[in-house]
Amino acid sequence: MSILSILKYGEPLLLEKCLPVEKIDEGLRRLVDDMVEIMYAEEGIGLAAPQVGELKRVIVIDISAGEHPGELVVLINPEIEAEEGSVIAEEGCLSFPNITLEIERPRWVKVRGLTPEGEKVELEAEGLLARALHHEIDHLDGVLIINRISPLKRDLIVRKIRKKITVGEW
Ligand SMILES: [Zn+2]
Repeated sequence: MSILSILKYGEPLLLEKCLPVEKIDEGLRRLVDDMVEIMYAEEGIGLAAPQVGELKRVIVIDISAGEHPGELVVLINPEIEAEEGSVIAEEGCLSFPNITLEIERPRWVKVRGLTPEGEKVELEAEGLLARALHHEIDHLDGVLIINRISPLKRDLIVRKIRKKITVGEW
């Protein structure tokens, strides 16, 4: 059983910039395992360490949501090296339960980072995987889905969330 829980919008930690991981050790691998476990338990397709309260540059993604073994992507200190095009699509986030927003993201990205074993990796992705990578790397800089919509829509959503918080539904 994982002891981690997912922080929701309103938690100040979600707005922080995360620090690069300096040392890949047993503690970090345990964090990765816990993140993967909670991502699957919550039926998400991606999770970033700040969402579980760890200000470290670590992301986990599985766009098959656990359906296809081998699709799990774990990246330490991921960086977007190149991106191309733009696509607008409906998107959710485990830190914004029951909310989906139309978000514009690159169609294609090239990302580099480290595996949990400390090996350098580089991957190119398009479609949903590109979107998920871009979304999770955003989290590492404190950028959330509501930071990628118009100020007008953002006000609307924030008001909606505040109302939910007031009545204890958030
Ligand atoms: Zn998210």
